[in-house]
Amino acid sequence: MKLILLGAPGAGKGTQAEILSREWNIPSISTGNILRAAIKNGTPVGLQAKAYIDSGKLVPDDVIIGIIEERLAQPDCAKGYILDGVPRTIPQAEAMEAKGIDVDWALSIEVEDDVIIERMSGRRTCKNCSQTFHIVSNPPKVEGVCDFCGGELGIRKDDAPETVRERLAVYHRETEPLKAFYAERGKLKTVENRPGIEATTAAIREALEH
Ligand code: AMP
Repeated sequence: MKLILLGAPGAGKGTQAEILSREWNIPSISTGNILRAAIKNGTPVGLQAKAYIDSGKLVPDDVIIGIIEERLAQPDCAKGYILDGVPRTIPQAEAMEAKGIDVDWALSIEVEDDVIIERMSGRRTCKNCSQTFHIVSNPPKVEGVCDFCGGELGIRKDDAPETVRERLAVYHRETEPLKAFYAERGKLKTVENRPGIEATTAAIREALEH
């Protein structure tokens, strides 16, 4: 399975990508996580990306294409992959196509903007492994501690309400047109957000089977 997950920030792409990745035993690849790791490690890519990420803007396409090409060349991607948060613009999708990067489906998780804003205000992210939780709908077993690696949970700087609004505007302007891009290629599936993580996972499985 070579799957792209589309959807607004906070639509649940990361959460669903992690679940499906464990289920299908293929890697889930998040350019956001790769960029945040690069920032933490102070690499040249990280230095270049930081100001864009902190202000909710998109990192330039050429940086993203370089990252994704390198990551997909790793042996663990040979059987398939789940792309979480990439492509994010039509030029990224065109560049991936030109490089022969295959996808079976682009699946869009549809969530209303006001739900996103509420959701992002309660999001907590593991500073170590990037797993996300929500203080009400998906709380960790121990407050402030990651269930998966025991790392400390924190609030992502770009989850601040004003930055979330900017990221949503960027999503509608730059990323949403990808739905038409993949629909034209007969590769678009859409799933409405359901209350509960497992219900949304079930809807994704169902959409991909039909
Ligand atoms: P995410 O974790 O997917 O929400 O990404 C966090 C931030 O990383 C975004 O707001 C962008 O600044 C940057 N980013 C992640 N993926 C991409 C991408 N494919 N293209 C451009 N910027 C990206």
